[in-house]
Amino acid sequence: MKHTTVAAYAAPAPGAPLEKTTIARRAPGAHDVVIDIHYAGICHSDIHMVRGHWGEKRYPIVPGHEIAGVVAEVGPGVTRHAVGDRVGVGCLVDSCRECENCRAGLEQYCTGELGMVGTYAATGRDGQPTQGGYSRRIVVDENYVLSIPDALPLDAAAPLLCAGITLYSPLAHWKAGPGQKVAVVGLGGLGHLGVKIAHAMGAEVTVLSQSLRKRADGLRLGADHYHATADPATFRELAGRFDLILNTVSADLDLDAYLGLLRTDGTLVQLGLPETPYALSAFALLRGRRSLAGSAMGGIPETQEMLDFCARHGITAEIELIPADYVNEAYERVLASDVRYRFVIDAATI
Ligand code: NAP
Ligand code: ZN
Ligand code: ZN
Repeated sequence: MKHTTVAAYAAPAPGAPLEKTTIARRAPGAHDVVIDIHYAGICHSDIHMVRGHWGEKRYPIVPGHEIAGVVAEVGPGVTRHAVGDRVGVGCLVDSCRECENCRAGLEQYCTGELGMVGTYAATGRDGQPTQGGYSRRIVVDENYVLSIPDALPLDAAAPLLCAGITLYSPLAHWKAGPGQKVAVVGLGGLGHLGVKIAHAMGAEVTVLSQSLRKRADGLRLGADHYHATADPATFRELAGRFDLILNTVSADLDLDAYLGLLRTDGTLVQLGLPETPYALSAFALLRGRRSLAGSAMGGIPETQEMLDFCARHGITAEIELIPADYVNEAYERVLASDVRYRFVIDAATI
């Protein structure tokens, strides 16, 4: 069988605006699922990646790893999904499947030779570059395709595939729940889902945002408290307060100041991926036996668990649905923290 050609939006070079193009999708193999993409979320990582913040990549790049759609075709060996199923694809489309992490369902931390294969700007098992969700169709191995529960609308569910799991995974790992004080730093795409999920888990949730501009939204989404980080009084008032701080900020931050907000044995989990390294004082960690940790998305079983959790709790992203030709403006608005709270591309407009 031959590959198919599909319409897509791609960055032709680092920093260049995205433009309409076509890309090839492989003919489905025995275990492949062909997905008609309905919606693709815009993650801040898409911007870091196409602008070369994380090092050189092969161009053109079709970004997009928050994909929701419907199965159009399946290979003869597929058992997990059927034509017509509502499905999603997140940040990874393959991994070695044999290493300790893959066997534990932590495919995002694959240590095998293949490594985690990113949904775009990576190299697949076949040696070809992967291309992401800003396109009409994608072909993915069935083991890396998630089922989207009927209770979740596809457009507002798309951002769960990256932003949702990226917050769910550390909240679950550090056991956020009743009696725990959780702070979410940055009320953007990741942060707003962190507020909803932490609230649904029963934790007491505080938003730490640059200003009080989005305070009403934060409280409506489930936050119990909301503070401006531009106000130095915030850091005095909240000193030693939190069990868990989830930092979703995409830019450099004074981590020492945030570590000071942890109670004894508290953990600050780094989720944002700024291009420059942080400065850190050892004293900020020693005081109160604090931990600084990182967390990347989530594995396939946990991503399914997160989707099911969101369906049970009625959690979806707050989205602004856009036509594909708005993508470059949307990027500028994300960079200006002017998004409430996730742009989602209507793939029918590609
Ligand atoms: P986003 O929608 O742009 O949200 C980031 C938020 O950070 C903004 O809304 C803003 O919140 C705050 N912020 C931005 N610039 C700031 C600055 N200079 N100083 C202080 N706060 C600032 O981005 P996102 O899609 O949520 O992604 C956030 C970061 O996580 C990105 O770096 C992305 O690459 C990374 N990421 C990591 C993973 C992972 O697996 N760990 C997964 C996905 C994304 P306020 O307006 O409330 O201050
Ligand atoms: Zn992402
Ligand atoms: Zn592996």
